[in-house]
This record gives sequence, structure tokens and C-alpha cells, in this order.
Amino acid sequence: MRKSIRRVFWLYTLLFLLLIFYLLKITLKDSKNYILNPMNPRLSSKAEDIKRGTIYDNNGTEIAHSEQTENGFERLYKTEGNYSSVIGYTENGMSGVEAGYNFNLESIDAELLQRISAIFTKEPVKGNDIYLTIDDRVQCAAANALNGAKGSVVAMEPNTGRILAMASNPTFDSNTVVEDWDYLTQNEEDSPLINRATQGLYPPGSVFKIITTAAALSANENNEDFEYTCNGYEQFGDTVMKCFEGYAHGTERMENAFAQSCNTYYATIAEHIGSAKLMQTANNFGFNSPVDFPLSHETPRFALDETSQLNELSETAIGQGKTLVTPLFMVMIASAVANDGVMMKPYILDRVVNCYGIQKQKTIPEIKARVCTPEIAQKINKFMCACVSNGTGTGADFYAALPDNSVSGSSVYVGEQHITVAGKTGTAENSSGEDHSWFVCFAPAQNPKIAVAVLLENSGHGDSAEYIAADVMKTYLEIK
Ligand SMILES: [Zn+2]
Repeated sequence: MRKSIRRVFWLYTLLFLLLIFYLLKITLKDSKNYILNPMNPRLSSKAEDIKRGTIYDNNGTEIAHSEQTENGFERLYKTEGNYSSVIGYTENGMSGVEAGYNFNLESIDAELLQRISAIFTKEPVKGNDIYLTIDDRVQCAAANALNGAKGSVVAMEPNTGRILAMASNPTFDSNTVVEDWDYLTQNEEDSPLINRATQGLYPPGSVFKIITTAAALSANENNEDFEYTCNGYEQFGDTVMKCFEGYAHGTERMENAFAQSCNTYYATIAEHIGSAKLMQTANNFGFNSPVDFPLSHETPRFALDETSQLNELSETAIGQGKTLVTPLFMVMIASAVANDGVMMKPYILDRVVNCYGIQKQKTIPEIKARVCTPEIAQKINKFMCACVSNGTGTGADFYAALPDNSVSGSSVYVGEQHITVAGKTGTAENSSGEDHSWFVCFAPAQNPKIAVAVLLENSGHGDSAEYIAADVMKTYLEIK
């Protein structure tokens, strides 16, 4: 009898400990998931008595804030700067930064203190504010340069992964999402609710030659001197590959083939190194693995495998196969080259600050992957410089009035200086219309401070993307 009582005692003790463990797990570990779960009824009731935190750019320019009205709070957004697709909205669901950082914007720091002071001041209890990595001046430069064109611009600091600007067109107005909802959800051709920077998947076109170059150099560093004579076309398997408009580039080595974007050279070198090597390099750069970014995004896709035929390999080598990338991923690739082969994890939240101005959280840059050796990255950097100085990317060449940092605290400028830009152009074939054009780049080439990816839908084989990138880089270098 006593034995069975003891048994029951231990059973209850065990159950009780399990209960405590479970409650601790919910409070300490899972609470964020419960709060973020859209099925949580407390979310909407919470939003009514809490003033949602403000969203600022990195320097304190207000991008989104809440104002109290008779019926609760109204969310107001900055209209200049093409922010809507990145900041998102909080009505009819949530998207963008509003969704990704809902937890921070609704979290109340020093709640007791705030509740007590609210009794006297009648001011609402306020959620934490967030400061993004985006610089409003660079964002506005990107929006102005894009000038309503269908496409996207993303700018990043190569050695940290900080997103400096992210613009996408066609877009919407976060201030009038409810009124415009039917139009926004029914317009399939323009898909204005899609953030093209992170969710738009496009063939990379010749920008992919960055990856093929890395693969060729890692297979054998002497491949830089591999010589080939381009006649403007060549047969690979059952496909005839052509250079742009059948132009014959003549005898060339890798640097010139890269700068002139010679398709037959790159298809030939891909045939030499084989699909397994190209596949391995693409995987190193992050294809087919999660990008790990807080806003809704797509994973870059690379479809080659060991069984792929020669025509598939040659098409993939020049970016025309089944490979698909986002502008965000492309700026990560350019940044990794700029950063000696080290790819940084992209981030957009710089810091969280409570309603008393005290910093609660600060993002530390993280290495995402080492995509190639520093030697290979420096060679690609050199090839990208050749592309802008005497190849297909000359539209990105520019001068900038750099601030003189040797004179502290003053705004003395050292006059217009030529900036060496490293870049790569691309034209992505589009079966349903005019081709898309790409440009990825970074500057200054020897001390990269900014990388930019530009995608223009249906803009054909022009140099508009290069001018847009140059505007964004110039703006940033002149304020930094
Ligand atoms: Zn050629």
C-alpha cells in the first residue's frame, strides 16, 4: 500500500515538473512565436491600446509612425523614396518591415512605468522604435533614378551586409492599401504588392559569368590565360550559341571575354571545367539555399546536375539556363566579390530603441559564407573593372565630390574625383516580351563601400541600369 502511494507521489511530482518545464518553455522560448502568430486574437486587441513604434531610416528620418485618432491609431508613411514594398503595411494582413519586425514595434519596454505615467499624461503606451540600415538619401536616389521604371534597385555595404537602399516598381502606397486593395490584388500583370528586390525571380543573364569565372579559376588558376577565338557563334550540343548580335570578339583571354561578355568563350570554358565544378561553385555562392533575410523572399535556383547535357551546361554558364535569381541575391554576389570572397548576411534592422530613447538591441554583422578565395575575388574584381573601363559597362563610370575625411568635422570637399567602378552587365532573355537588363557593381573598386544591383524589366539591351547604379553609388560616396 505505502509503495503504491509513493509511486503516485512520484508520478504527480513528475507531472508537476513537466508542467513547470512546459510553462517556462512557453514564457522564455516560444512567447515570440505566439505573439507573432496571426491567429492570436490578442494581436488586434493589443494594437488598439498600444501606439505602434516608429520606423526610422538609419539617421532618424521618419518612415512610418502612428497617430492617435478617435477610432484608435492611424499608421502614416513617408511617401517619397519608394518605401512601400520594403516597409509594407499593417492592414489587410501585414507585409514588409511591418510584418518582419511586428514583435519589436508592438513590444512595450518598461511597461509598468509607461502604464503609470499614462494615467497622468493621458499619452498612450508606446511600442519600441526601430532604426533601419537604409539611408534615406540613398533610398531617394535609387527611387529617383528608377523613375517609375519596372524593376528594382538594391544597395548594400559589402563588408557588413547592411542594406542601404531597396526600391521596387510597380509599387503601391502604404497609406492607401485598404482603399486600393481590389486593384492591388487583381493587377496580375504588374503585381504591385510583390517586392521585386527580394521576391522577383529572373534569369541572371551574363551577370552569371561572375560565377562561371570563379568556377574556372578555382578549377585551375591558369584558366585566366585560356585563349579562345570567338567567331560570333559556336555549336554546343544541339544548340548554336551566339554572341550579342553575332559579333565576333576575335582571339581573347578571360579578362577581355568577361569585359566584352563573350558568350562562346564562357560556354567553351564551362565545357572544359564540366558541370560538377560549376554546380559546386554555384552552391558555394548560395544557390539553392535559404538567403536568410527577414522580409519575404525567394531562394535563388540553379538547375544543373551531373546528367545535364552540353547545351544545358553552356546555356547555364552564360546565365540563360533554368537559373533564377533575385536582385537581393545579386547584390550579395557583387558584395562577396568586393569583400575578398566573404559573403555577409544581408540585414535591414540596425537597432531597436525604447520609448525613452534607450537602445535595446543592435544588429552585429555576420559572415554568411566564404564563396571563393581572396585571390579569385581580386581577379574577378579586376575583370569587373575592365568591364566598366573598356567593356560593356562603361555607362557606370562616374566622378564624385568626395568629402575630405582628413579635415574632421568640416564639410570640405576635395573636388570631383574619378571613381573606379567594378561591374558586370547582363541581359536576361524573357520569353514573354522584351529582355530584362541587369547591372551589378561596387565602388570604389580598391576599397569598396557600396555594392548595387539593378534590374530593369523589358528594357532590352540598353545601358539605363548602369546609369541608375552610378547615381546611387555617387550619392552614397558623396555623403560617406
Ligand atoms: Zn564572343
